[in-house]
Amino acid sequence: MHEALQYTKTGNNAVQCSLCNHRCKINEGGHGICGVRHNEKGTLYAMTYGRTSGEAVDPIEKKPLFHYLPGTLSYSVGGIGCNFHCQHCQNWHISRATLEDSHMRTLEPLEGVSRAVGSGSASISWTYNEPTIWHEYALDMGRLARNKGLGTIYVTNGYITEEALRELAPMLCAFRVDLKAFNDDFYKKICGAHLQPVLDSTALARELGMHIETVTLVIPGLNDSMEEIEQLIRWVIDHLGPATPMHFSAFHPDYKMTDRSATPVSMLEKIYKKAKLLGLRFPYLGNVYRHPYENTFCPKCGATLIERQGFSSRFVKLDGEQCTSCGEHIEIVRNVT
Ligand code: SF4
Repeated sequence: MHEALQYTKTGNNAVQCSLCNHRCKINEGGHGICGVRHNEKGTLYAMTYGRTSGEAVDPIEKKPLFHYLPGTLSYSVGGIGCNFHCQHCQNWHISRATLEDSHMRTLEPLEGVSRAVGSGSASISWTYNEPTIWHEYALDMGRLARNKGLGTIYVTNGYITEEALRELAPMLCAFRVDLKAFNDDFYKKICGAHLQPVLDSTALARELGMHIETVTLVIPGLNDSMEEIEQLIRWVIDHLGPATPMHFSAFHPDYKMTDRSATPVSMLEKIYKKAKLLGLRFPYLGNVYRHPYENTFCPKCGATLIERQGFSSRFVKLDGEQCTSCGEHIEIVRNVT
């Protein structure tokens, strides 16, 4: 078993985990909300260290990341468990899996990095379930990955604490974060968490120099009021900058949320236009196959810079980080630094 980082002993063999903002107090023999950090005789263990539920070599656009190493592959690994309990989770078969009922395979950090390099990937993504709760493992693999010149990506709900994020920062390049709604009620009722810590960690990730892209799954009747969406966009512009790519994705009924219909495309288009109007340079729509708003357009002259179909990209009027039509500088990371 691998001893956890980010916890304190609080007496009587109890511990307090400080990895995510639940800050679980865990008595001897118990585990945290995420289900994968276990108190054994007063020591906290990361039970899924070196154990994966799946791996794949994905186009980076699938994360989705459109402004970080576009057109490259990302070696992607996932574990089990989650510190959120979203009713509409699309990966519930792994996020709700338990240590007892899951089939996991061993993958040591060094082997993961070798597989990433061997697959021709430019980066490693910790994804599919919440990577925050895999902290020690991601940290070890990420440090090795950076030494091999790979990019490193968290696809995360952003509930990580400040201290854990600061520990990750030297190895983590990109923070692809869900901003699930701009109201705390949604976070409480639908996810079992709170909004403000997500905003705080996202702003901190930006301050620490990570590339940020946000995803908001627009759910009819729950987080789709234009007033709320506008507040969210304004927050991103003010705290992360107008060049932050924001993805607005269509909801499809899943898991415990099958009582709602899919998001109308017209609703997403309205949000896209509002985001442009507010000054966001790169809004995108997601889960809307072959929609032109998946493309990257020059914010100055409107030329198509990158054309996307599904997860494939075609570079049209982009040379490095410059629009070849008007010369505008485009905020996009083309190489791992
Ligand atoms: S990672 Fe979060 S949910 Fe898991 S034990 Fe730590 S504080 Fe609790």
